[in-house]
Amino acid sequence: MKLGYELRETDEKGDGIFTTKKYTKGDIVILGTIGRKLRENYSHASQIAENEYILHAGLSSKINHSCDPNCGIKVNDTGAHDIIARRTIEIDEEITFDYSMRNYVIEFFPKECMCGCDNCRGKITGWKDLTEKKKNEYKGFAAPYLIELDKKNLQPAMR
Ligand SMILES: [Zn+2]
Repeated sequence: MKLGYELRETDEKGDGIFTTKKYTKGDIVILGTIGRKLRENYSHASQIAENEYILHAGLSSKINHSCDPNCGIKVNDTGAHDIIARRTIEIDEEITFDYSMRNYVIEFFPKECMCGCDNCRGKITGWKDLTEKKKNEYKGFAAPYLIELDKKNLQPAMR
């Protein structure tokens, strides 16, 4: 099957992934497959559980972050992240998701966010630091372990 996306050079952000066909909301844009498991988090790692990080195989590790992304993630049966369209995506659009949809804490992007959208947060932050409004917006497009971690962190300490 022909893939609906390809690697291209962006103006300012280095590599980016762009669509070569149109997608509608809910479509799987990129099927996630685990490349290898990692011992710890680093900039291209994807969090797949509280203390588990992987490197995705294929081009999905090259997808750039956006604070107003056209895609979200869904954890599939293998534990990898499928990239799902949040809205209609036209041909030649850059595929983006919000890195906070998969990582509870972001430690590796100290520089300013370059997504360029109107409601840019300024810095790439993790799920932990999103507003409630943003979390609601991302409902269904963020990894479930993030919501579990929220619950855990909000719970008063039991003794
Ligand atoms: Zn941004």
